[in-house]
Amino acid sequence: MKIAVIGAGAMGSMLGVYLKKGGADVVLSVRRKEVADVMISPGLALKMYEGDGGEIGPLPMNAVTDLSGVGIVDAILLMVKGPNTKTAMEGAMCLVDKNTKVITLQNGIGNTDIIKEFVSEDKIYYGCLNMSAAMDKNGVITGGLFGDNNIFVGSLVKGKEQKKFGEEFCSIFNAAGVSACYTDEIDKEVWYKLILNVAVNATCGLIRLRGGEASEDQQFMLLAVDMVKEAIAVANAMGVDIDFGYFMTQIMPVAKNTSGKHYPSMAQDMMISKVKTEIEFINGAVERLGANVGVPTPINTTVSRLVRVIENNYDRQYMPKATSGASSFRIEITDKFCKGCGFCVKYCPKNVIGFNEELNKKGYSTAKVVNKNACIGCLSCTAVCPEAAINIVKE
Ligand code: SF4
Ligand code: SF4
Repeated sequence: MKIAVIGAGAMGSMLGVYLKKGGADVVLSVRRKEVADVMISPGLALKMYEGDGGEIGPLPMNAVTDLSGVGIVDAILLMVKGPNTKTAMEGAMCLVDKNTKVITLQNGIGNTDIIKEFVSEDKIYYGCLNMSAAMDKNGVITGGLFGDNNIFVGSLVKGKEQKKFGEEFCSIFNAAGVSACYTDEIDKEVWYKLILNVAVNATCGLIRLRGGEASEDQQFMLLAVDMVKEAIAVANAMGVDIDFGYFMTQIMPVAKNTSGKHYPSMAQDMMISKVKTEIEFINGAVERLGANVGVPTPINTTVSRLVRVIENNYDRQYMPKATSGASSFRIEITDKFCKGCGFCVKYCPKNVIGFNEELNKKGYSTAKVVNKNACIGCLSCTAVCPEAAINIVKE
């Protein structure tokens, strides 16, 4: 099966590696040539958390920045963020003929409505992932798998042909050692995943805390539970049977253990990248769908509005100013935790951090402070560091 992964960030790349290992002919679509070059040689390597499937690669991948030479594919796996779905589909139409399927495993609800503008409904598949991934500049992907099943896939049209293709697609992942299944009950799985995002993703960005830190605060949990209840009421009104007790006891704790150490994606979008978030596909989807079925969603609506205000005003928000002379912030980098991913280097707005030229004992070119007095204490470096290797201390 020839599959193009459109949006090969950390998660898309991880799926691409599994698909290739499982026997598919995979092409990864990325924006930057230097990223494509690393994917091609030495390739992508997976280093899963202990107990989550060991190591794969480096596996040399087929990666491109221009889709025009790829030709027609059997399937497009769409992994861009929701706000980019329309543009991504416009760019990917050179890969599509009347038989090409489009599979979205993106976050949230609403992407299939956009994809319908490009291909017929009987070719559209959607689902959700129980996985996490982060990729460094050397093409090393660290990640985790959680839950009994890692990839759920379903189709907009529930027919024999769709089931056959969905099962074939999932069997590639299963051959690579990741559990994937095609199911007619896909809406239930997608809603459970959506509700998890509803509970923590946007609010962590608003309060600037990691998922684990936020969930230790009782006020945060009260807010999360109220948003979850609204989302469940919408799902149930739409005929999707979601159970509050099951969600709180089975899904919430697993997610807290596996991803609580990081800032969720929307928090990173708001705090660091300052780009359009997936709010319209998560809390905004609850707001929109709630209005359709007559279920009030005041808290999700409020959270969505706050996020929209932030998105509309990135350039006017408070940012600490650099002072002349010595910075009043001390940057502590724990060398033994650092894996040299370079996120802190990339996202520091004041170029405070660079790399050590010599590799450490583990073979990483670790981060070091190169411009101490420029630090304004914005905390972007701590927010993006996947290893919690940086601490900023006000002196
Ligand atoms: S706190 Fe901000 S300015 Fe200081 S090193 Fe980190 S990212 Fe750079
Ligand atoms: S300190 Fe963290 S973000 Fe910076 S290079 Fe090391 S692991 Fe990456």
